[in-house]
Amino acid sequence: MRCRVFEPNDHSHRRHNPLLDEWVLVSPHRTKRPWQGQVETPPPELRQPYDAECYLCPGNMRVGGLHNPDYADTFVFDNDFAALQRDTPDGETNDGLLRSASERGICRVICFSPRHDLTLGEMALPDIERVVQVWQSQFRELSAHPDIGYVQIFENRGAMMGSSNPHPHGQIWATAHVPTVVQREDATQRAYWDAHGQTLLGAYVAQEIDAAERIVYANEHFVALVPYWATWPFEVMIVPRRAQPDITTLTVAEQQALADVLKRTVTRYDNLFQTLFPYSLGLHQAPSKQRETAHWHWHLHIYPPLLRSATVRKFMVGYELMAEAQRDITPEQAAQRLRELSDVHYREQVR
Ligand SMILES: [Zn+2]
Ligand SMILES: [Zn+2]
Repeated sequence: MRCRVFEPNDHSHRRHNPLLDEWVLVSPHRTKRPWQGQVETPPPELRQPYDAECYLCPGNMRVGGLHNPDYADTFVFDNDFAALQRDTPDGETNDGLLRSASERGICRVICFSPRHDLTLGEMALPDIERVVQVWQSQFRELSAHPDIGYVQIFENRGAMMGSSNPHPHGQIWATAHVPTVVQREDATQRAYWDAHGQTLLGAYVAQEIDAAERIVYANEHFVALVPYWATWPFEVMIVPRRAQPDITTLTVAEQQALADVLKRTVTRYDNLFQTLFPYSLGLHQAPSKQRETAHWHWHLHIYPPLLRSATVRKFMVGYELMAEAQRDITPEQAAQRLRELSDVHYREQVR
């Protein structure tokens, strides 16, 4: 009988996600199987700085009849098709196992730039800093609202992620209740803080800096890495080196550093398959009305679905839906590929 030593780069294993307290199945040997699916090349990209049909471009009319101002950098407005409304009445139903509770909220859209054809990776650093400052002011304003318990800031990019408009923009959904994923991360971070007297992500980033193999890019204030427990093939987490409950206390240097790490990360994504990489990006911050926040270490997740080309994506189906998340390419391999890419955007390179 042959003695076999566990080698995480070759053998199936499970990895623990301490933020969500759940497990991910990693099957690196599966990346060796031949790919028989179709590989398509994406259609050529049309570039126009202004689109008369776009409801986010400056001066254009939105559905509902309101006109956008002739904005010069960013523009925030209440979503015309909000998933939540401010004036939903309080109420709950309780009928045995059938329970419900009303939910109030505020949904906003943030245009990142007046330019229809730019992306976060292609915007100039001062313009990305402006987006960071809008995130700060929106978080501050909405968190202070008496009805709001949590402010979720996010961006869906690309048709694959359900984004209906290529104009660079993000969203905010501010809700009365603290949503499920944030509640779980609150509980895991609190338990770690109570047991160790430091933040979970502070300890995690220190361990990742020592290991170095999953870091994509780091500057003085932020570390971008593929988490040890990542589920999406090229998932990235951006973690500030300084633990803070939310982004309202960022220094000017930290705002600039956040713009820098965002630009370099998104540019690497776009360069990976020479396409505008679809993703969902979102910030996790302490709930708005929470008094005890010492355990909170705000951070940013990016979940992109692409696996091996501009059109071949990872599906969360079968085993993932029935049992637990699973991945083939290891987080170390994904980080190495992203790390080795240029952080000059491919659309800039051809100009
Ligand atoms: Zn537009
Ligand atoms: Zn999180």
